[in-house]
Amino acid sequence: MHTAHSQATSTALPVVSISELNKSYFTRRGDVEALRSIEISIHPGEFVSFVGPSGCGKSTLLKIIAGLEDYQSGKVEVFGDPPKPGRRDVGIMLQSPVLLPWRTVLSNVVLPVEIMRGDLRAAKERAREIIDLVGLSKFTDKYGWELSGGMQQRVSLARLLLLDPDIMLLDEPFSALDEFNREKLTLELSSLHTRFQRTAVYVTHSIAEAVLLSDRVVVLKPHPGEVLEVVAIDLPRPRTAETLQSVEAFELVRRIRAMLFSHDEGIAQ
Ligand code: ADP
Repeated sequence: MHTAHSQATSTALPVVSISELNKSYFTRRGDVEALRSIEISIHPGEFVSFVGPSGCGKSTLLKIIAGLEDYQSGKVEVFGDPPKPGRRDVGIMLQSPVLLPWRTVLSNVVLPVEIMRGDLRAAKERAREIIDLVGLSKFTDKYGWELSGGMQQRVSLARLLLLDPDIMLLDEPFSALDEFNREKLTLELSSLHTRFQRTAVYVTHSIAEAVLLSDRVVVLKPHPGEVLEVVAIDLPRPRTAETLQSVEAFELVRRIRAMLFSHDEGIAQ
């Protein structure tokens, strides 16, 4: 278990550091400047969200950190090295859960351990605890095809927690959920973060979600994707359903919304 604290200080060495990052896609239909001059350092245990409308380069940035996408110029380092895919200390959760429908919840959660030929017995034991943590203990032996969208996303989160990476990359992980389940799972993620103290890089178009979860929110605008501002979220932890009702949270959401609307690309909320 790691000891880094979520209220990371700037004295700790960053786990992810990005400077002067530029990324374009070159397609037959023209070039797209996805990211321009991105600068950000993320510290151990910190929860950092990237927020902005569709097309502002959030997913591209996450894929670059995961080593799944290249870039033209600038410097990106993950634990001091250039990003590369398949690192054991970096885990990613994408918008659509990738579950095998013919496997049970338990065997879906331990699948990566099986693939990596890890200790399956120990993994199963730990997986049961984590399945309980994400509220799925009654469904441990249900098959993938029997699960609702919300449950599938919980399984996906459990799988990430079992791997227990130092850095969790989350790309709109709850986007397929209805509002009620989305809020519930967001709060659960926040409490898991407080408990496990991992570094989290989260991508969302929901300002409220970003405020609720984060230590800092990086506000991006599209075309090209550029940082408008990095907003410190100094709301007390643990964060609860009431946190978002507070005057301070409301003011932060209002400020970020105003920043984005002043750039007038529209925000899909
Ligand atoms: P977001 O996650 O904020 O919606 P993306 O990172 O998906 O933004 O995309 C940023 C920009 O790059 C968009 O204009 C998008 O159309 C473009 N883009 C993303 N992926 C590709 C790709 N594989 N090929 C060409 N353009 C892409």
